[in-house]
Amino acid sequence: MKLVFATGNIHKIKEIQALMPSEIQLLSLNDINCHDDIVENANTIAGNALLKAQFIKENYGYDCFADDTGLEVMALKGAPGIYSARYAGPQKNALDNTQKLLLELKNKENRAAQFKTVIALAIANQFFTFEGICQGEITISPRGNLGFGYDPVFQPKGYTSTFAQMTPALKNKIGHRGKAVQKLIHYLKTP
Ligand code: IMP
Repeated sequence: MKLVFATGNIHKIKEIQALMPSEIQLLSLNDINCHDDIVENANTIAGNALLKAQFIKENYGYDCFADDTGLEVMALKGAPGIYSARYAGPQKNALDNTQKLLLELKNKENRAAQFKTVIALAIANQFFTFEGICQGEITISPRGNLGFGYDPVFQPKGYTSTFAQMTPALKNKIGHRGKAVQKLIHYLKTP
């Protein structure tokens, strides 16, 4: 079965490809020749995931899933949330974003945070969403150089390493996106 994963992020394609059953052939946006700038102007993470999946289904006709992720920091009342990618500005730079986050939390005692991923699936004229949450805390300074985005400053609950110090396999197993993907796969496998 062919299924489009509506992302241009090579890290995510790799992460999710590793989790998919072999009978599902994942196609990237590049594979279907989609180079559109898909508007993500909903005010929730789920809303943005749905916008992307719907766009591909309507304009390209493929069954498709799209994900949207936000980092929600308790002491910042859930920020950066839907603004996670452009937290430090429209350049969407991961280093700038993590530096801004560490600055915002400089004098805060509560460093609890969670990553939330919502996957929206558009399949045969129906829409479904699958949510994955990973709780943890924001470290005092960045550690590790694996992964991407906020990984160097996010330490999941029960671990002493940041996501950027973990193997991709471990991050997949305990991480937000992995959990949402497991729910998606369970749905796809259920007759
Ligand atoms: P997106 O919805 O996947 O585009 O992600 C929004 C923002 O969260 C971007 O700045 C990403 O770099 C960041 N982000 C998404 N997933 C992860 C992750 O697994 N680890 C660290 N940062 C992430």
